[in-house]
Amino acid sequence: MIVGQTGESSDAMFARGASSLVGRAGGRLSCCHAELSPPRVSAPTRGSSAPLSPTTLFGDDPHRRLNILTGEWVLVSPHRMKRPWQGQIEEIPPDNRPAYDPTCYLCPGNERAGGHRNPNYTGPWAFDNDFAALRPGDGGRRLDTDGLLVARQEPGICRVICFSPRHDLSLPQMEVPAIRGVVDLWAEEYARLGARDDVGHVQIFENKGEVMGSSNPHPHGQIWAQQTVPLHPERERLHLLAHHERHRRTLLEDYLRLELEMGERLVCSNDAWVALVPFWAVWPFETLVLSRRPASHLGQLDDRERDLLADVIKQLTARYDALFNVSFPYSAGIHQAPTDGAPHPESHLHLHFYPPLLRSATVRKFLVGYEMMAEAQRDLTPEAAAERLRESVRKR
Ligand code: ZN
Repeated sequence: MIVGQTGESSDAMFARGASSLVGRAGGRLSCCHAELSPPRVSAPTRGSSAPLSPTTLFGDDPHRRLNILTGEWVLVSPHRMKRPWQGQIEEIPPDNRPAYDPTCYLCPGNERAGGHRNPNYTGPWAFDNDFAALRPGDGGRRLDTDGLLVARQEPGICRVICFSPRHDLSLPQMEVPAIRGVVDLWAEEYARLGARDDVGHVQIFENKGEVMGSSNPHPHGQIWAQQTVPLHPERERLHLLAHHERHRRTLLEDYLRLELEMGERLVCSNDAWVALVPFWAVWPFETLVLSRRPASHLGQLDDRERDLLADVIKQLTARYDALFNVSFPYSAGIHQAPTDGAPHPESHLHLHFYPPLLRSATVRKFLVGYEMMAEAQRDLTPEAAAERLRESVRKR
């Protein structure tokens, strides 16, 4: 495994990135009423006029925003930020973990389920999940009864990746070179699993925090590699493909250019990566991390881009932790090209962070009611969320 040199410090990176985080509003209306299905390609034909901020156009008025990656809409209701909150107060588990926990099944040297024993690993380390949701196989069985009962066998492999031998560290608490080691292991696993005949898609993700269902506080993520491109990346792939076929640029390349021009949804950045609250964010402090240079997958990143990916992950997750002064829970994942052997120039490597917290360490958002029955909805605007994250600084 290659571990690169330490990059510029996060604070220095942010100080430099912050100078470009100047929001701009005004100009003429550039309105896009894109349809859902099939993916409609909206040509970036605004010309030289400045893009109009949704804050300027809608103010506190309810409006719907289109997720250009998925074709889904989200209802935004800024005026509701004024109502009183009478919701759930969650217990915050004390964060006093030891560096090594003899009862943790992920710590080095400890025994796992089924009698497996962990090696005395010293850096990031991956192994087959003892309770895998997928099994390797041929995937040949199909069920189709009158087009009404339809099912397909799904082969695959589930892996667990420990970010560090240290039980008490999360990504924002790790040093950038150590996070770079995780980036390298992600790239290795993507290449190795993706090369298999029974794997067409590799999903790397992390559930962080009890509130997100993480069963063990030891910092770790997962990798589920399977034959089929699953629902969410497949939906995104269709929109990425439609845009690339028309413009010969990636959808996220064009989107990033616009976000850099406007500035109001940017959170932090460095020379290779930008973290922003997407225009169509559903979760209160949802972010999207985009590579400035379109790369289809981790294997296409050079040494410097890998260092800087580690840097932007640390910058962003440290901001999350500082926001409500708590180890910020989230589900995060990497979207990259399917591993079907095709080149996929439409693919643009990106990371999604979906954190549930809304107003404090104890007040979270639920996707229920209208959101289960109709569509996603949020009160805090993505612009306001980005501003909160930009202002968030490490307090501990
Ligand atoms: Zn995505």
